Amino acid sequence: MRPLIVLLALCIALPAHAEGFITRLLNKPVPGGVAVVDLGNPAQPPKVRYQGKPVLTVHEDGQRWIAIVGIPLSVKPGAQHVTVEGGQALSFQVGAKHYTEQRITLKNQQQVNPNAKNLARIERELAEQTRAYQQFSARQPSNLLFDKPVNGPLSSPFGLRRFFNGEERNPHSGLDFAASRGTSIKAPAAGKVILIGDYFFNGKTVFLDHGQGLISMFCHLSAIDVKLGDEILRGGHVGKVGATGRATGPHLHWNVSLNDARVDPAIFIGAFKP
Ligand SMILES: [Zn+2]
Repeated sequence: MRPLIVLLALCIALPAHAEGFITRLLNKPVPGGVAVVDLGNPAQPPKVRYQGKPVLTVHEDGQRWIAIVGIPLSVKPGAQHVTVEGGQALSFQVGAKHYTEQRITLKNQQQVNPNAKNLARIERELAEQTRAYQQFSARQPSNLLFDKPVNGPLSSPFGLRRFFNGEERNPHSGLDFAASRGTSIKAPAAGKVILIGDYFFNGKTVFLDHGQGLISMFCHLSAIDVKLGDEILRGGHVGKVGATGRATGPHLHWNVSLNDARVDPAIFIGAFKP
């Protein structure tokens, strides 16, 4: 409890300018959001874990270390904690957020209730993608305020509770952009291509590792224009918008994952709506 009280006291007592830019931008502690946890100023870069998984840490403004924690959509509002190597636990509070419903009609019934063969494929592909989300490389992300990966308006937000042909399925794990087929998808920050696939639900897909568990996934592409292992610069071309996989029309679906938790990409482009 004590670190939480200290943190809360700091938030209340310090003038606004004491909170750094990254904290102001990213601290949206709700299910499917991000918690920024102050780690003070230890001599060594701190190693932090949340739910047993390594967490992104940044030396903000050259003054103090912060942990940038992805909160899974499944987490209930209330106290959560990270552990810092050496045994210390730091608490943070997760608030509530209401996510609305979306009803989608699909002509292909296999995309709602897949047969045994397709289920086996889906399971295999899910495992492959989960392994990509769990990678944790040492690099520091080039930028935490991301560029939009396509020029286009936001369409379906993150976290929608989705019903396909009336049946509830997994909530929307990313953010959709309305964009026409063939629109160039650009890296929102520098990254390494760690997985490429053509999946049952996601269609043509690219995973980009920005560093320390911060990973972008782009899917439903019409074309993939990078290779496994490529290093993509910020703003570099990744592929083209399409409608492959389970999509009702061309759009870009973009996932952002932190410590293997899919979080709202809108946070990283300054478009988060509480
Ligand atoms: Zn989507």
